[in-house]
Amino acid sequence: MTSAHQDTASTRSGPPAERPNLLGMTPAELGDAVGGHFRDRGQPAYRARQVARWVHASAARSIGEMTDLPLAERDALERSFRFDEPVLDTVSVSADGTAKHLWMLRGGEVVESVLIPAPGRLTLCISSQAGCALACRFCATGWSGFGRQLSAAEIAGQYRASARWAGERGMGNVSNVVFMGMGEPLANRGAVFPALTILNSGYGLGARRITVSTVGVIPGIEALTRRPEQFRLALSLHAPVPELRRELIPLEQRYPLDQLITALEAFNRGGGRRVTFEYTMIRGVNDDPALLPPLIDLATRVQAFVNLIPFNPIPYVDWRPSHRERVQAFRSGLDEAGVPVAVREPRGRDIDAACGQLRATRYPAQRTRSKIRPQRISRSQGKGRSELRLYEK
Ligand code: SAH
Repeated sequence: MTSAHQDTASTRSGPPAERPNLLGMTPAELGDAVGGHFRDRGQPAYRARQVARWVHASAARSIGEMTDLPLAERDALERSFRFDEPVLDTVSVSADGTAKHLWMLRGGEVVESVLIPAPGRLTLCISSQAGCALACRFCATGWSGFGRQLSAAEIAGQYRASARWAGERGMGNVSNVVFMGMGEPLANRGAVFPALTILNSGYGLGARRITVSTVGVIPGIEALTRRPEQFRLALSLHAPVPELRRELIPLEQRYPLDQLITALEAFNRGGGRRVTFEYTMIRGVNDDPALLPPLIDLATRVQAFVNLIPFNPIPYVDWRPSHRERVQAFRSGLDEAGVPVAVREPRGRDIDAACGQLRATRYPAQRTRSKIRPQRISRSQGKGRSELRLYEK
């Protein structure tokens, strides 16, 4: 894994040295690093707090805009630190208001984030890795293979740049952040954990408004359980029995369902912290009514809220979303059993807003990095498509 703010090359002119990016520092790290910098220069202690305000509470995009610092101090800061957001490549706005950004990162990797407006809230979905190593069969990003880990600065930078973009267009403040973009956040804890701190105590977003979505990386769930903040957790369940789950999610072989549920029970601590199950309903694959009792059982054990999501078709498999009646049958079955449930309508279909899809359309080269070439597979084919390499590269 990469460290919290490990960026390796500069996208700007100037010294190519390893200047740390201010966007990747937690408030404490920023206080230490920038505070030390100013102390060495004989500057007052409040200079570091001024910089923190520019980073976390302004729309400024460069150190040159930090107008309450003397010019000489702006220059000196510039020589020691970077203040770089991901560069906007493309933005597509859906008829339903969903806005998808493609960000060009250093080294040419491209990742997505999505702004999803709804009455009373504005949710931002961000990426934690360029690509993904986990190869879930229903996921476009999974088919693309793994590019690299994002740094904390690149993760928090998606938030900062998206929030400014939304503010400039009168969309209001980002109220919620979900790690449901590209990548497996708990396979990049070295950057995701500091990014959680930055979003929470830097930008002031409540921990309960930040959701980490995982396909089931147990050590990551345990590490999140140990954190004092009440971050929310979503588990991409998609199947309530191990045999079927293994077919959809190769990681099930490493972190089996029974152990996963034990880890989630510990996370939930008897109702203290909300767990959500994500269940993508794929016609004829995981929507058999016989799966309802085990689903109800798991949801009851961890007091989970269940999101039923009609499958969003992707080019690599010939699967279709479940019929509406099947989705409704699952919804009422859960409801009658006392499990809180919602059916999520797909947003931004017209702009390829499902995980990994816009990048796949615009940058086809970045979707074939996987050792196994994309091919159309049916349910019976393609088992063991990819070996599990969680910490690739
Ligand atoms: N790796 C993390 C976060 C990224 S995916 C995780 O797996 O949770 C965010 C959500 O989108 C996951 O619940 C994932 O299962 C779901 N998803 C991926 N591809 C999808 C598709 N084609 N249709 C519907 N949901 C999909």
